[in-house]
Amino acid sequence: MSLSPPGRARTTRTGIPCASSAREVSRSLARTRRDFLREAAGVAIGGTLFSPSWARAASSNSRKKVVVVTFGGGARDQETFAPEGQENIPHLMREFIPQASFFTQVVNRGILGHYVATASLATGVYETINNFASLPPQAPTVFEYFRKDLKRPSSDAWVVAPSNGFNRIGESSHRSYGPGLGARVILPKHLLMAATSGNSGDYQHLLRDNYETPYYAPELEGNEFQLQQLEMLLKVSVDDFRAHAQALSSPDELSVYIARRLMREVAPSLLWITMHDIDVAHAGAYSLYIEGIRRTDRLCSDLWKAIQSEPEYAGKTTVFILPDFGRDSDNDAGGNGFQHHRTGDALSRTTWMLVAGPGIREGVVFDREMESTDLVPTLGAMLGFSATLAEGKPIGELF
Ligand SMILES: [Zn+2]
Repeated sequence: MSLSPPGRARTTRTGIPCASSAREVSRSLARTRRDFLREAAGVAIGGTLFSPSWARAASSNSRKKVVVVTFGGGARDQETFAPEGQENIPHLMREFIPQASFFTQVVNRGILGHYVATASLATGVYETINNFASLPPQAPTVFEYFRKDLKRPSSDAWVVAPSNGFNRIGESSHRSYGPGLGARVILPKHLLMAATSGNSGDYQHLLRDNYETPYYAPELEGNEFQLQQLEMLLKVSVDDFRAHAQALSSPDELSVYIARRLMREVAPSLLWITMHDIDVAHAGAYSLYIEGIRRTDRLCSDLWKAIQSEPEYAGKTTVFILPDFGRDSDNDAGGNGFQHHRTGDALSRTTWMLVAGPGIREGVVFDREMESTDLVPTLGAMLGFSATLAEGKPIGELF
C-alpha cells in the first residue's frame, strides 16, 4: 500500500512541485481509456446530460436495489481496457459496456490500502484509519445512511467481504450513526472455517486472507455463529457447503457463491461485494495476476446473470462495478508495475466505474474527472437517502 501523502505531485527539474502533472496524467489516461472503449465496443461519448423524467419514473425508490462490486484490488489498463488487455475482460467488454454508463476518470485521492480505500468508497470520505487494524470507518457508511433515513431493517443491507480485515466495514464509529444502524457483514472464509471445523487442509486456496504483508495474517475463526448463518440464513447445510466449496478455485468464487445465496434467501436492497483475487499480483507472478483479472471478469458476469434471474432483483437493480484503486505504472522508478500500488502515482489513483441497470444510459462513456467519494452521494440520490457527511457529489450523468 502507499503511505505517501494523497495527491503527491511530481516536481519539475527545478524541484518546484508541479501540481498539474498528476492531473494531466489522469486526464490523458481517461482519454485513452475512452478511446479504447469507443474502438472496441462502439460506445458513444456522453456530455453533460440533464435528467430525463423517464429515468426517475422508471421505478420508485422503494423498489430499487443496488449491488456494488469492487473490482478485485485493481488492475492496470494494459491488462484490461487497452487493446492488448481486452482479451482478459471479455464479459466487461461484450456484456457490460454496451449496456452501461462507463466513467473513465474516477480518481482516488486517499490512502491506497485495500481496507481503508474500500472504507472510503463506503463512506464517501477519505478515511485515515489504519489499513491493517480492525477498526470501523470514522464517517458514517452508506449502509447507515440507507438504513437510518429509509428506516430499513438490518436484513436489507449486507456486505460480503474477502478477509478478516473487513469485518468492521459495515458500521462506522460516528456518534450519530454507528452501532445497530449498519450493514451485516458476512465473511465467507469464516463460514468455511466453521464448516470444516478447523480441518481446512483441502481448502487452503480459498482461505488466503491478504496478499500484501506476511506481518498481517489474522487468525481466521469459525464458530457456532457462522454455522447458524450458513444453515438458518443462507439455507445451506454444512455438508453441501463443504462439497460445493471443493469445486471452487478462489476466495472470490467463494464470496460470489455466498452472495448468490444471500440474494436468493435474504434479497437485501443494498448489497456490497468486495472482490480481492487480483491482488495476488503482490506475489509477483504475472500469470496469477492475469488469472485473477479473468476470474473477476467472469464473476462480475455471474453476478449480473444472477441479478437477471432472481425475481427479487430482475428489472430493478442497478449494478456499480469499480476498483478501489489501480496499480503502479511501469515507468515509475519507485514502483514495480503490476505488482504493487505503493508509489501513489496518478496511474494507481485513476480508476473507472461501470454502472448498469434500469434507467441508466447504455453504451455511453464519460471522461470527466470524478472522485471515489462520489459513489455514496450517488447511491443516496438513487435510493432516496441523504449522505450528509460524504465529501463527494452525486454523479449527474446517472440521473
Ligand atoms: Zn494490494
